[in-house]
Amino acid sequence: MKQSDKIEVIVVGAGPAGLACAYTLAKAGVEVLVLERGEHPGAKNMFGGIFFSSIMEKFFPDFLSDAPWERFVGKRKFALLTGDSEMTFEMSPSTFNRPPFNHSFIAKRGQMDQWFAKKVEEAGASIIPNYCVRDFLYEHGKVVGITSGGDDDSFLADCIVCAEGANSLLTERAGMREKIGPDYRSIAVKENIRFTQSVIEDRFGVTGQQGAAYEYFGSSVKGLLGNGFIYTNRDSISVGVGFSINDFINLGNKKTPNDILDEFKAHPSIAPLVRGGETVEYMAHMIPSDGYTRLPKFYRDGLLIVGDAAGLINASFFHEGVNLAMASGIAAAETIIEARKQKDYSSENLSCYEDKLNASFILQDLKNSKNFLGFLKTHKAIINEYPAMMNDILVEYFTVSEKPKTMIKKEIFNRVRKTVNIPKMAGDMWGAWSNLI
Ligand SMILES: Cc1cc2nc3c(=O)[nH]c(=O)nc-3n(C[C@H](O)[C@H](O)[C@H](O)COP(=O)(O)OP(=O)(O)OC[C@H]3O[C@@H](n4cnc5c(N)ncnc54)[C@H](O)[C@@H]3O)c2cc1C
Repeated sequence: MKQSDKIEVIVVGAGPAGLACAYTLAKAGVEVLVLERGEHPGAKNMFGGIFFSSIMEKFFPDFLSDAPWERFVGKRKFALLTGDSEMTFEMSPSTFNRPPFNHSFIAKRGQMDQWFAKKVEEAGASIIPNYCVRDFLYEHGKVVGITSGGDDDSFLADCIVCAEGANSLLTERAGMREKIGPDYRSIAVKENIRFTQSVIEDRFGVTGQQGAAYEYFGSSVKGLLGNGFIYTNRDSISVGVGFSINDFINLGNKKTPNDILDEFKAHPSIAPLVRGGETVEYMAHMIPSDGYTRLPKFYRDGLLIVGDAAGLINASFFHEGVNLAMASGIAAAETIIEARKQKDYSSENLSCYEDKLNASFILQDLKNSKNFLGFLKTHKAIINEYPAMMNDILVEYFTVSEKPKTMIKKEIFNRVRKTVNIPKMAGDMWGAWSNLI
């Protein structure tokens, strides 16, 4: 390796975190090289997905007219599935249906990441695709470069930003986090199913560029900790399920993640929405579920960790990932720009990265939802029994009969008293309010 191969900053991974970091650095005149293992940015990437665009819009005020989004999210639905039934809350506020469309756009990562990468190159950064970083290079404990494996295939840098995503092998190898186990990752599988635009508009009640984002809880993933989803693209829909890998292993049967997706698609509420389309893409990906209490170290001498690699994803109801990834990438870039003035990339000098994360919505939101997954893990009744009971109550309450309503209410109350422990349920509801919302 020659010293002439030294670059100011290397970013590993061309997802939203790495690209936002590279864009900010390049705009500030820093020499930056992005290494991406996929054949192009986005080739290996998948999300649900809603692209939360507020940060991207600050970079590119013409985002609305220029970016390759599919539809804006004008309609949101949150549904509880139980057995063969569904209870739903749906919203389509006028503010979500006019610019800036609540900064929420259904997009395909393959297209959005490539579009962003082009802007990053235009800003002056270099991107090398098909380059898989195998490890970091060290000198006296400081990270000084990366290697793809061969002796001649290495780069030195003043500072490295690791934006490798959820499969955080480099981060783990660098001793920045505990070993990743099945308890701290979810798996998601998703299909893109093609329809004509008019079928999508009719089935989902949307028009023009308006789109719908449906999230399904309760028994959508067979009582596992996770949920199902449908998002409308322009001429296809994304249908998927995501759930805790540990929960899935504990199922102890021979089901595959794809079986869970097939069962979700076969539910009487979902089947009419997916019927008759052609599956044109199939994808699987991991989602970090480290949570606030198990975050990795964010920096060491010569190295910063951003985005999913740092566990920076809001895995609560909000499912926000790309905006946290971009915000962390920018925070890392700003830290490097400061450190560059003193030519000092020691961990002391990089520590203000963590201060920036703490001061921003990133760690404040993660802190706010720190008990979300843990609470659901230990209170599975909230996912399974209570929704089923609520469904039964509503069905009974609205079933037409000649019974007086007062009698129906009394019967419901007596049945609830017999089937659940009311003080426990009240405690669970209070817990849900304080830990989930
Ligand atoms: C099913 C699913 C649904 C989701 N839905 C949403 C949603 O609706 N909205 C939302 O905001 N977020 C969503 N997310 C989360 C969101 O996708 C992530 O939070 C976000 O992509 C993180 O960005 P990142 O740049 O940190 O990582 P990634 O986007 O994963 O990018 C990492 C990049 O690094 C590259 N890479 C990895 N290892 C190496 C290596 N060794 N060498 C070189 N390159 C490497 C990868 O190829 C990849 O391009 C979802 C995720 C999943 C899986």
